[in-house]
Amino acid sequence: MPLMLVLLPPIAAEALSRCRRGDNLPIVSNLWPPYPNWQRERTQNPPSVSSSLTGGTEHRHCAALASVRGMSSGPVPHMSPDEFREHGRRVVDWIATYWERLPTLPVLSQVSPGQVRAGLPGTPPRIGSHGSLDALMADLDEVVLPGITHWQHPGFMAYFPANASGPSVLGDLLSSGLGVQGMLWATSPACTELEQVMLDWLVDLLGLPAAFRNDGAGGGVIQDSSSGANFVALQAALHHATDGTSVTDGVSGSHIVYASSQTHSSVEKAARMAGLGSRAVRTVDVDPATLAMVPAHLAELVAADRAAGLVPAMVAATIGSTSTTAIDPVAEIGAVCRQHGVWLHIDAAFAGVAAVSPALRWINDGVADYADSYCTDAHKWLLTNFDATAFWVRDRRHLTGALSILPEYLRNQASDSGTVVDYRDWQIELGRRFRALKLWMVIGWYGADGLRAHIEGHVALAQELAGWVEADDRFEVVAPHPLSLVCLRPRWPGHEDEEADGLTMSVIESLNRSGKVFLTHTKVAGRAVIRVAIGAPATTHEHVQDVWNVIRAEVAAHS
Ligand code: PLP
Repeated sequence: MPLMLVLLPPIAAEALSRCRRGDNLPIVSNLWPPYPNWQRERTQNPPSVSSSLTGGTEHRHCAALASVRGMSSGPVPHMSPDEFREHGRRVVDWIATYWERLPTLPVLSQVSPGQVRAGLPGTPPRIGSHGSLDALMADLDEVVLPGITHWQHPGFMAYFPANASGPSVLGDLLSSGLGVQGMLWATSPACTELEQVMLDWLVDLLGLPAAFRNDGAGGGVIQDSSSGANFVALQAALHHATDGTSVTDGVSGSHIVYASSQTHSSVEKAARMAGLGSRAVRTVDVDPATLAMVPAHLAELVAADRAAGLVPAMVAATIGSTSTTAIDPVAEIGAVCRQHGVWLHIDAAFAGVAAVSPALRWINDGVADYADSYCTDAHKWLLTNFDATAFWVRDRRHLTGALSILPEYLRNQASDSGTVVDYRDWQIELGRRFRALKLWMVIGWYGADGLRAHIEGHVALAQELAGWVEADDRFEVVAPHPLSLVCLRPRWPGHEDEEADGLTMSVIESLNRSGKVFLTHTKVAGRAVIRVAIGAPATTHEHVQDVWNVIRAEVAAHS
């Protein structure tokens, strides 16, 4: 059989051979194997997808297949293993040099909109550059690099960090080289089992409850992001709240989600995506001093909803809010959830990994007793390249109950035996990369002590910065700073609030234009605030001192 025929999907290959033989055009049901649940599969897949070889489209398909048959495209210019060795060394070298050059580059990209697009050809090359990477590397330097905001720069203190590290990049490279798609245990057992071990290791490293481990009723999985984790947590919560009928009947419009004004927007987005709508999200009050959720108000809202015949489905508590790293009182919130049978999800996207330091484990107080699900991002502050969100559930039946769906073509002996985990049942997508490799490399390279030193170093720097700010009466620290984010504001004596906020924003813009630092803002009690988020692996004491100096100089220039 010619190679092309082997690569075509079976139905197309069959159609092509029928075209060749001049057979009558195929009828779809004759092509399908007589597997037991094909009718169910037709329900899952809209007819337009599953029957593309029927009716009037058949002639077009036949003609297209015939023209492919007549083509003589010549050899495919794959990169040989030897070429890969040569070019791979060059690319690794480029990355190492980039990391060395980082401090000399402007943190925030200085390009104007459209500049990168304008630097690239509008159409793809017909003849590739095979044999040489010269042209591509030249464009990388001249067109792409100027359009990069350097997240690994020591002066990157915007948003939250997105750590990269040598071991993580190499783990990702191995994952790419293996080219594994780990949707099922059977499609690469190591992809699933290494991930299970990594998530168990993280339970241990972060002092999380043993109930999250994969050897009990719970379990952990790598999601692409905390937004995704928050969404699948809501799916599990709805499964729990409906005794599983959410899967067959959907939701009735009576299910309610509880969050605070400080909860990440992805929770409301999850409610929208789940079909609940934004109006199903209750905003629980926060303590004005700590910005943490007020459990008594949560209890009131839940009771009122129940009295109105609604169904409280999920509370999203945050450990380390996006705006200021506020920490919700999980134990008190958990007690309310327990009383009313509500799923408690913990979003610890940025801060959760800080628990690698035993001195910071208090941030997870209450999790062991009450959390039904929990997520934290190794790709923010734990030296692991995006994407790697660790997500755990205490009882995986609600997660897999909500997300498992089995078309015939994925059935296999291992899954049918019930002895393996198929991670496709734990996430939105079917396909998945071998992301555990980079975590394995990171944890193996740094060890618990190295990871702890990384986190504790940044926390110490932030506490020192907060001390400098507090000691300067031209500034104030505006929120608690338990970790590595400091929210500060110049006082701007003699200026009304609105004018003062304009000056604060103008200071941030000038600093970002300077290329020395990249800072972003938030609002606390309605007032503009400068966020200094320390967490890039290259950031040292000297860089934090520099940032404090340039902030003070810029504020002086604006005064
Ligand atoms: N939750 C919190 C508390 C966050 O701070 C963030 C991002 O900063 C997110 C969720 C979303 O994270 P991701 O980019 O992994 O979706």
